[in-house]
Amino acid sequence: MKTMKCSKVLKLLSRHLDRELSGPEQEAVNRHLAECAGCRQEYELLQSEHRLLRSVTVPEIPPYFTARTLARIGALKPASLLPKLLWQTAVSLLVLAGIGLGIILGSTLATGSSTSPELAALNSEPTIEELFAPGNGGR
Ligand SMILES: [Zn+2]
Repeated sequence: MKTMKCSKVLKLLSRHLDRELSGPEQEAVNRHLAECAGCRQEYELLQSEHRLLRSVTVPEIPPYFTARTLARIGALKPASLLPKLLWQTAVSLLVLAGIGLGIILGSTLATGSSTSPELAALNSEPTIEELFAPGNGGR
């Protein structure tokens, strides 16, 4: 046996959540919710919405959140804003060093067999274009 009409309960639900209902009203709503699955579902939906709203309006921001976020952004900046010329110079220097090392290694290894696994590995080293490919495409 239902003590209250669904339409009335549904109207009172949000106030019920805010605990604005009087004692008897609250009791009647609770009793109806215990009996009526449809209203209970509606109530649970409202309840989760309420919780979400409350968690949004009262956000828990850690004390150093802003500073930490700014620091993280600052830490990202140098790498992304580094001039390409500087990168190119660094990379070409590395490549040149690799080639120089390869020549030295190659000449010393060449005395043995002409095709050594070390030489093959050196030949398969990434080129400047390959080294730049991931950094360029991204953002
Ligand atoms: Zn109902």
